[in-house]
Amino acid sequence: MIYLDNAATTFPKPMSVRNAVVNSISNYGANPGRGGHDLAVRASEIIYKSRSKTADFFGEKDAENVIFTSGCTHSINIVLKGLLKPGDHVVVSDMEHNAVMRPLYALKKKKISYSVARVSDVSSDETLENFRNALQENTRLVVCTHVSNVWGTRLPVERITAMCHQYSIPVLIDAAQSAGVLGIDLDESNFDYICMPGHKGLYGPMGTGILITKHHDDLETLIEGGTGSNSALFEQPGTSPDKFESGTPNLSGIAGLGAGIDFVRSVSCEKIHAHEINLLAHLYDRLEKNKNIILYTPRPNVYNSGGVLSFNVKNHDSEEVAAVLNRRFSIFVRAGLHCSPLAHLHHSTEETGAVRIAPSYFNTISEMNVLAASLKKI
Ligand code: PMP
Repeated sequence: MIYLDNAATTFPKPMSVRNAVVNSISNYGANPGRGGHDLAVRASEIIYKSRSKTADFFGEKDAENVIFTSGCTHSINIVLKGLLKPGDHVVVSDMEHNAVMRPLYALKKKKISYSVARVSDVSSDETLENFRNALQENTRLVVCTHVSNVWGTRLPVERITAMCHQYSIPVLIDAAQSAGVLGIDLDESNFDYICMPGHKGLYGPMGTGILITKHHDDLETLIEGGTGSNSALFEQPGTSPDKFESGTPNLSGIAGLGAGIDFVRSVSCEKIHAHEINLLAHLYDRLEKNKNIILYTPRPNVYNSGGVLSFNVKNHDSEEVAAVLNRRFSIFVRAGLHCSPLAHLHHSTEETGAVRIAPSYFNTISEMNVLAASLKKI
């Protein structure tokens, strides 16, 4: 079996992550923050440790600015629905996932509009100008994915953020494909809102996500409820993270996420990124020699790419290719539109979709060779 669908979720998870999940369920599975007894205190400590590790890993000084969610979609919804008001305008890149586009589409009913800025395939200056030109008087937020989940394209998010800040416009970065792969230092980059899953490049369990922001006062809540704090008040606590974390938290997920961050730290983002790019560049060279393969992007490299590469086999639907890889060769990849129809419009693959290869730190060059050889047989 060869698993190459790590852009959807990483598999396998490191042994330390599996152990952390089992340990939490087996040894201290009480409800954190909901009781003064020893087991509840121990559970709270684990959540606190994971929160501190996350803050430290991303260069965020205040651990209370780290909000645990159920995934990147949840984090993005908290910002879009918590921040935007009728009459507001949003600028998004043309690489955005439906985790951004569907909430924005739904918000149209509340008189919130958006414009799309095209990402240039050749020049980050051009991308920057496209974003600048899309800004309006009423632009309240710019949303930009860090790495396209379809094409692996790396967007100039630091430059886009600096430009938006000249106009006092906050920026939401969707780090679904970059967290744990590209080093992110919030102290330097100043992203206003960064949303990410815990279950992809951070190697945590599914059902975990993170939002990091200093600007939580600007956000209305999506849900309200018990937080274990200020219980005498009907009013939702106004301070982060309690404001956004109502209900029983995902203790085993958050324990596993902490272990995932430890794992990434022990290897380093630089090494993980270099490994993934090395695999994809090797695959690219093999696919380039195959006359039946259509490649859409330049050869992956550490400066312009994350760990994702998509292609098509001439005269074959992408879903068909993925099904054959699955059935005949036990190679697991994702085909179709990857929940990102906008990104497919970018390379005119909205009808065929594309076959996506997304390795993790655990994949190998020999697996790339097996994939290339299998594609030759199709
Ligand atoms: N944004 C991007 C770019 C993604 O690739 C994904 C996951 N495919 C998401 C958002 C949504 O992440 P999650 O599944 O954790 O909600």
